[in-house]
Amino acid sequence: VSERKRAGIICVGTELTEGIIQDTHVRFMASELTAMRLQVVRAVQIPDSAPIFRAELARAIADCELVIIAGGLGPTSDDLTREIASEEAGMPLEFHEEVWKGIQERFRGRTLSETNRKQAMSPRGFGLIPNAYGTAPGFHGMIGKTLLAVLPGPPAELRPMFLRYVPSLAQGLTGTSADEVSWGTAFMLAESNLEEAFQGCRKGEVSWGTRVEDDRIVFNLRGAVADRDGLLADLEILLGARVRRGDVKPAKLLSEALLARGMMMASAESCTGGLLGKWMTDLPGSSRVYWGGVIAYSNQSKQRLLGIEGKILAEHGAVSRETSISMAEGLREIYGADVGVSVSGVAGPEGGTPDKPVGTVWIAVARRGEETAARVFRFPGSREMIRRRSAVAALLFTEACLQGLEFPQFEV
Ligand code: ATP
Ligand code: MG
Repeated sequence: VSERKRAGIICVGTELTEGIIQDTHVRFMASELTAMRLQVVRAVQIPDSAPIFRAELARAIADCELVIIAGGLGPTSDDLTREIASEEAGMPLEFHEEVWKGIQERFRGRTLSETNRKQAMSPRGFGLIPNAYGTAPGFHGMIGKTLLAVLPGPPAELRPMFLRYVPSLAQGLTGTSADEVSWGTAFMLAESNLEEAFQGCRKGEVSWGTRVEDDRIVFNLRGAVADRDGLLADLEILLGARVRRGDVKPAKLLSEALLARGMMMASAESCTGGLLGKWMTDLPGSSRVYWGGVIAYSNQSKQRLLGIEGKILAEHGAVSRETSISMAEGLREIYGADVGVSVSGVAGPEGGTPDKPVGTVWIAVARRGEETAARVFRFPGSREMIRRRSAVAALLFTEACLQGLEFPQFEV
């Protein structure tokens, strides 16, 4: 195994160094770069100041095989990144007519000032990094033995540009190619749970890197194909439906499982307040698999919309196996979907009791001709987190029921 190449990150903007905004780029890019087997040796935030910028860039280039600059590509005079990169590369800035046309099209109707022309410039000999989400493209090129990649500051532009272009740029440095990597996704696990699982399933020379997102952990494995496959197979046995091959999302997984069976799903949501329905309908084409749903929040709505008997609610409470099952079955019977999914829980911060603490969530899945499956989960976190985790769990638990996958209990 060769020595890891070194990477440096420079975030530019006086808003950062004056504490007006909080940097989020380092966490994102550093975890990606680490997953690509680079070692991040420095990550700095600097103000829009030419002398400081020059000094930091020179140091980073001296120290690293890959340097990423984030921000400062705007049209105004405090946006210095283009000029400083061009100085450091010893290459003049070049104007790209096709980029300028693109910018003009984006601004159609509005007047563009001459200063916007700056955004169509990059150092001679550098390649452009297209920006599908904003005005200014990024660019990349070699300065001595260092690869410099420059990306715009807004996260909605930087992130997709990074994910799409930086891995293949960095491939030349790390000497690994895409087919030497396997991707996987873990759900509803803490990073430490996943790390333990990796350690327990270790195979040969496989190494791993993780990227933690809101509702999932995307990981990659490097090493011989047989070892990577072996590790994934062991993980699947250990973690069941909580781990999947590839870079996958819960609503997509469920939609595909429904589509493959020609099934329509309906949802009855209490504590998630429609989040499940939102995530299902975020997917284009979801009308083929998602019938719709009800938000049955009060007990009265559970009775009226889902036909639950008052007796069940009175005896077991709204957050219970019995109620979640009645919700899912009532949904299917009244509205006639193939699959009925219910979520009912205590999202907090109030309303917890010793036997049903905040974070207790029941999920039930009713299917035609099958016994209704129900599971209780206990989620930590704020109201918002509990609601999100409940919706993820409902998507995955439903999919696992359809696929006949194990869904092992885990304390997280
Ligand atoms: P623009 O053309 O939009 O000005 P830019 O490349 O010049 O793009 P900046 O001006 O540096 O980028 O940043 C634009 C916005 O992006 C900032 O106002 C801030 O909201 C966000 N941003 C910049 N850097 C970071 C960072 N390190 N972390 C989080 N957000 C950032
Ligand atoms: Mg700017």
